[in-house]
Amino acid sequence: MNRLALLTSGGDCPGLNPCIRSVVRTALAGGIEAIGVHRGWRGLIDNDMEPMDARSVAGIVNLGGTVLRSSRCPEFREAAAREQAIANLAERGIDGLIVIGGNGSLRGACELSRQASLPLIGIPKTIDNDVGGTDYALGFDTAVNTAVEAIDKIRDTATSHERLFLVEVMGRDRGFLALEVALACGAEGVLVPEMPTDIAALCAGLERCREAGKVSSIVVVAEGDDAGNAYEIADKITAQSDYELRVAVLGYIQRGGTPSALDRVQGGLFGKAAVDALVAGETSKLVAKRNGETTLVDLELAWKETRELPAHLLELARVLAS
Ligand code: ADP
Repeated sequence: MNRLALLTSGGDCPGLNPCIRSVVRTALAGGIEAIGVHRGWRGLIDNDMEPMDARSVAGIVNLGGTVLRSSRCPEFREAAAREQAIANLAERGIDGLIVIGGNGSLRGACELSRQASLPLIGIPKTIDNDVGGTDYALGFDTAVNTAVEAIDKIRDTATSHERLFLVEVMGRDRGFLALEVALACGAEGVLVPEMPTDIAALCAGLERCREAGKVSSIVVVAEGDDAGNAYEIADKITAQSDYELRVAVLGYIQRGGTPSALDRVQGGLFGKAAVDALVAGETSKLVAKRNGETTLVDLELAWKETRELPAHLLELARVLAS
């Protein structure tokens, strides 16, 4: 391994920059050149990349977003576009590729891997924490903390005015973020896409809390809940209760901001593990965290394996809300 390229693709999240820094500095320490690809798959097709040195990743360990930029690139689904990417990599003498991405980007990485003989290693990132094959994806911890900080503030108003707040967090398909946030905030309810939502049961639960002396309630809603978005769910609750109800949609603040210590350290571990894997001659692997250890699994698991929402955490949220 003489020269590797790295890119960040798909939705951005905190933790990408610490991981980029780790890849670059681990590579350089091992005498390997590091080439940064701009704007994910887009830059690979457009041949938009440049060599990085230790100073080009200085002062970024505490920055959100990605200094390499990111994009969504529908064109990469076509074999011809991937051929162009492979030709650009070959022309630059690049003999290994590291892709930091979510489900979609890692699926694209699998397609590229099938088409090219180039060794390729994936690193999971997404605030949804729903990449298969790994217990953890970069960005999740920071997003949880951002949402918790916001909801703690919302709780002040909810309590002062004795209100019910529905707080919508990200999670189109999966409820990992909503569940973790609900637990951390002591929410009175949590609605996730994995479980059918029963509005009557939710209202009954909130009523039990009120009768038990609670003066405010917070219900955390994943944006992809089957009962609709937070505003639609609010209408349904209002139709069958007397709550003074407000809705807060946290939106994009969950994707940005200073990475937490956990995301910085995990970014460092994932980045080094990816470079080590290339040096060891591995290919089509995902760097993963499993049972607390950083390890390698088949890249295909990233999008083929569906992670289960932990039932014991759902139960814990229910019990602690009483
Ligand atoms: P994320 O990586 O954050 O999950 P997306 O799902 O939007 O983000 O995927 C990012 C990019 O990955 C897409 O814009 C596309 O370029 C690429 N991609 C996604 N699915 C495929 C696929 N089946 N084949 C090739 N490329 C894909």
